[in-house]
Amino acid sequence: MQMSILMLVAGMAVSAGEPGRAGDPIEQVVLAVHGGTGMEKALVTPELDKALRADLTKALQAGYAALQAKEATSLDGVVASIRVLEDSPLFNAGRGAVFTRDGKNELDASIMEGATKRAGAVAGVTNVKNPISAARAVMDQSPHVLLIGRGAEVFAAEKGLEIVDPKYFWTERRWQDLQKALAEETKKEGHGTVGAVAVDANGVLAAGTSTGGMTKKRSGRVGDSPIIGAGTYADNGGCAISATGHGEYFIRFSVAHDINALVAYKGLSVSGAANEVIHDKLKPAGGEGGVIVLDKQGRLALSYNSEGLYRGYVTKDGKIVVHLYDD
Ligand code: ASP
Repeated sequence: MQMSILMLVAGMAVSAGEPGRAGDPIEQVVLAVHGGTGMEKALVTPELDKALRADLTKALQAGYAALQAKEATSLDGVVASIRVLEDSPLFNAGRGAVFTRDGKNELDASIMEGATKRAGAVAGVTNVKNPISAARAVMDQSPHVLLIGRGAEVFAAEKGLEIVDPKYFWTERRWQDLQKALAEETKKEGHGTVGAVAVDANGVLAAGTSTGGMTKKRSGRVGDSPIIGAGTYADNGGCAISATGHGEYFIRFSVAHDINALVAYKGLSVSGAANEVIHDKLKPAGGEGGVIVLDKQGRLALSYNSEGLYRGYVTKDGKIVVHLYDD
């Protein structure tokens, strides 16, 4: 009897400390970012570790600065942070996007605002330097929510966004990833999608996500990142969510919307909701990934069922914290 009680207590201690499970929400957060679940920890050199942390910090600084500007909104913070991560070759979004199986880069992004539930997204774009800005343009300057492919590219150009030669997205590292994936040497794919969630001085939430998708994806494949309710969601009655992981699962489980529903309808904390979806629903089904979740009181949850989640946040008073794995 005594023994079984002890075992039970030990078991509980283990599950409470399960890697990647969000603890109590982090308070006073105004903006958080993620840079995907990343690569196998053992492969991260000290130089890469430093560079990843530096770029995540830069993204948080840019988002925080944007939030400080006069009349700035949470959308401005989200876009500013994501653009920094898109411009970095280290993350699977914008410049560092992974390759399709036929050696192209097809990018997806979305953004949503929590007070009005306005949203915008693009999918399968090949020449838009910052897909998150195209997503915002769809939201702000069109009657639509999601534009794809050539139509999205023409729209982005019309709105004056920066258009680049598709070669801009070619990086040696991602090319090698594709070669390995084609040779089926890698069984475990890292996910590098980027995202941000923010709350502004008026208590308005926003969320955004941007990605190159998954290495060796079929041309035309669209993941969860540009799908409102799967990879991105924002609702002032609930929370703001940006996800990363195996997109097909995140679409099937409506991950972002499900987390929001648990907060909005069931009154769960951001941590409780994130853990329930990421650990209790997605993990048993085989869906690897993670989320960043923020409510309008500035309470943040970071939850992932993968080895790591490149992530960071900035508090009201400007304190920046960055983590890659369970460090
Ligand atoms: N969720 C992204 C997708 O499936 C991939 C990722 O997060 O790395 O397109």
